[in-house]
Amino acid sequence: MRLFAVRHSRAFEWFYTRFESALVALDPLFRRVGYGRLERPVAAVEKLTKGLLFDCRMCGQCVLSSTGMSCPMNCPKNLRNGPCGGVRAGGFCEVKPDMRCVWVLAWDGASRMRGGSRINDVQPPADRSLEGSSSWLRVAREKAARPDAPSDAPRSAIARAFPQARDHEPASAPLAPEPASATDRESRR
Ligand code: SF4
Repeated sequence: MRLFAVRHSRAFEWFYTRFESALVALDPLFRRVGYGRLERPVAAVEKLTKGLLFDCRMCGQCVLSSTGMSCPMNCPKNLRNGPCGGVRAGGFCEVKPDMRCVWVLAWDGASRMRGGSRINDVQPPADRSLEGSSSWLRVAREKAARPDAPSDAPRSAIARAFPQARDHEPASAPLAPEPASATDRESRR
């Protein structure tokens, strides 16, 4: 399925643009119900859906729209900014020789997308404390709130250091206050 998503990256891009707008429009409802309460059920649906379509690893900071619909967390080295120097002939992974390099696929997918040039954005390192949480809810929080008052200094520094990534993929460098259920990994187990 991962290869299917890359081959049809343009269609997925089209769909996700609309899906994201719907998520942002639902922000008032999400707030009323409570982002904290929604975290577990939405993350479960996200895990199932994106797991099937993209082999999603639930990093909580989705950048698929900037990586040609090829999930960078499938890279055995978890590289989020392009391939290592070990790509084998034919575009195969150095660590898993039977697997196409996720970054070779990413360039392929990006070349089909309208916003494919986003692949040039430099992505911040993944924040492991957000692993397992919902990127969908994070995008809704970030885009609806457009927070300029950071919840803490380290996050603010990352958001400042990666402005393009934050602009295109706000979940990659979040600023809005997170519900405890999104940051407490123990409670999600
Ligand atoms: S970038 Fe993160 S949230 Fe997006 S598909 Fe990959 S693991 Fe899942």
